[in-house]
Amino acid sequence: MIAEIIAVGSEMLTPHRQDTNSLYLTDGLNDVGVQVAFKTIVGDNLSHLTSAASIAIARADIVLFSGGLGPTEDDLTREAVAAALNLTLRSDPAILVQLHKRFAARQMVMPPNNVKQADVLDGAIILENPTGSAPGQFLDIAVLDASGQPIRKIVILLPGPPRELKPLFDTEVKPRLAADLPPRHLAKRLLRMALIPESHVDARTAPIYQQYSDVETTILAGSAEIQLHFLCAKPTLAEAQRRVDELVEKIEAEMEDSIFSSHGESLEEVVLLNLGLRDLTLATAESCTGGLLAQRLTAIAGSSRYFLGGAVVYSDALKTTFAGVPSELVATKGPVSPEVARALAEGIRSRTGASLGVSITCIAGPGPGAPGPDADKPIGLVYIALASAQTTQVKELNLRGDREMIRWWASQHALELIRHHIL
Ligand code: ATP
Repeated sequence: MIAEIIAVGSEMLTPHRQDTNSLYLTDGLNDVGVQVAFKTIVGDNLSHLTSAASIAIARADIVLFSGGLGPTEDDLTREAVAAALNLTLRSDPAILVQLHKRFAARQMVMPPNNVKQADVLDGAIILENPTGSAPGQFLDIAVLDASGQPIRKIVILLPGPPRELKPLFDTEVKPRLAADLPPRHLAKRLLRMALIPESHVDARTAPIYQQYSDVETTILAGSAEIQLHFLCAKPTLAEAQRRVDELVEKIEAEMEDSIFSSHGESLEEVVLLNLGLRDLTLATAESCTGGLLAQRLTAIAGSSRYFLGGAVVYSDALKTTFAGVPSELVATKGPVSPEVARALAEGIRSRTGASLGVSITCIAGPGPGAPGPDADKPIGLVYIALASAQTTQVKELNLRGDREMIRWWASQHALELIRHHIL
């Protein structure tokens, strides 16, 4: 069975609001083995909505509407679906009573507009909405195709506010669909890799995943990260999981050095987990990233056990004050130099007593390096250093992109350096 989700609301056709409901609905539909084949966003216009409803009902088995069930003139989902299916709307007395009660509980008289929220598509099951005024509707009907054959269609109307839509979908819609559809269980896995181009990942993994036509593989490229999503639906969970795990194992063997997470954890989480496993602590001294690395690590709950803290050593003077970098070294080599990166990592390590000290210094742009030894160094030049009790490694990178990208990639490289060092 394939589904279409129609998000109703003119606000989602502006740059100010996004349709997030469809993401939630897609996840829930996938859980019960329904694939979403189409998504549509339509403004609050009866003719546009009716045409979107007609198209969706013709091409999908299940059509879910989100929004447009409110009391105002521009809430038109009920009317549009009735028009598309040539159904009448009837006013449901029980819903009217509920609506009056809802207003009375707030010492208010129900405005006449709200009466339309009691309109129900002929034949629809009413889905009670405890968190809002508009109930949902679930319609299971047969429509005739072009050759006059009846085809089953399920049309579902849900309110737009996410805090109403989510519980209503979970408690009223999902169980109905699950009970009705053949049993299908989904197994999912997520592999994450850092600092590798998408084309390389695809070239190396496609020959493997193409052998698993029953597992849906999706490659998503993010900021200095590639994600490989695997999804398999089978009559039993064990069967689905076995197929996904088998494929993941083969991909892991091929991409071993790049994969940092085989169950979806973030790079920060993996780094902290590995520090914890080896009982190591970390401290950072950041120049151009301004604390981005520390921010990423401290965003993870429980990080304080392994991440001692960090210094943002943006000025030359603070490199000396906070990390003990000799001022002559900064003056002669420049703040963006392998020597200063090394001294920063060693300095922050010894000043904090951490097992590992990490530093980042770079020319993030858009302007050139500061007057002095850095003046002619290129934008995107980055030095990252990692100091341990035994050794200090310094890595030079030449990154491309704007300031934001260079800073993010530098933090990603630093996390990867720590991860590889620990491993
Ligand atoms: P109401 O009774 O509140 O009018 P409704 O069913 O008519 O309910 P809408 O008026 O379409 O819903 O939307 C109400 C609010 O819910 C919107 O302002 C928006 O904040 C949120 N919303 C609507 N649709 C979506 C969506 N697809 N994704 C995320 N938020 C949404």
